[in-house]
Amino acid sequence: MGQNLILNYHGIIDSRTQKGHSDAIYSIQSSVFEEHLKILKELPVNIYTINELKKAAKSELNVFLTFDDGHESDYEIAKPLLDKYGFKASFFISLINISENDQRWQQYRELAESGNTIGSHGVSHRFLSNLNKEQQLEELIISKKTIENKINREIDYFSLPGGMYNKMTIRLAKEIGYKGLLTTYFNYMESSSIPYLLGRWSIKSSDSLETYKGVLQKNKYVISKIILRNRLNKSLSILLGHHNLDKLNYLFNS
Ligand SMILES: [Zn+2]
Repeated sequence: MGQNLILNYHGIIDSRTQKGHSDAIYSIQSSVFEEHLKILKELPVNIYTINELKKAAKSELNVFLTFDDGHESDYEIAKPLLDKYGFKASFFISLINISENDQRWQQYRELAESGNTIGSHGVSHRFLSNLNKEQQLEELIISKKTIENKINREIDYFSLPGGMYNKMTIRLAKEIGYKGLLTTYFNYMESSSIPYLLGRWSIKSSDSLETYKGVLQKNKYVISKIILRNRLNKSLSILLGHHNLDKLNYLFNS
């Protein structure tokens, strides 16, 4: 039986102009993103969107490309490159990054119409694990309804800001009608049984092309290193708080 691997990207910087949302840890260059797409094209993997999770069960390794936050680069940089290689992706919008009358809603409508998945990444980008019931409901429901109205499609998946959640998050998300929550725990998932909490590999600017290739080829050494770092990050994140950890990671990586 096959496996599913979900990759998580954030903003992409245009390598020619150096324009685009710049985050020291998560933003990658468009030239690097194109190298990723070339690697995907060469390997025996199939690319699907999150809405196609059920459809993807047949092949050996299914890869899902997801983009968080709702950056301008989704349409301006990622889409042209995805088109060039014939791939579709999934885009998770946080309402904090796109206002009510933003012209960019048209771009997301277009992305949805051409077969990409659009999902929710909440209203305020606050971590749901830090919120009470009313606040979590607000993040889950208002983002879902707003995006649905804007793109005229059902929003079935929610990407958790910071990958953070608690038991209440899962219960409320199910009640509201979400089909799944996307976390930032790295794992390969058996495609025969789709879990409600979907793990992802959150790609960082410090990850090399060798690491990328290693993950896609299921290189044991590369994977165990990522899982170890992932666990360490989660423990430190709980200990220090997410934002302090990002600062610390930045110091280590630069
Ligand atoms: Zn985010």
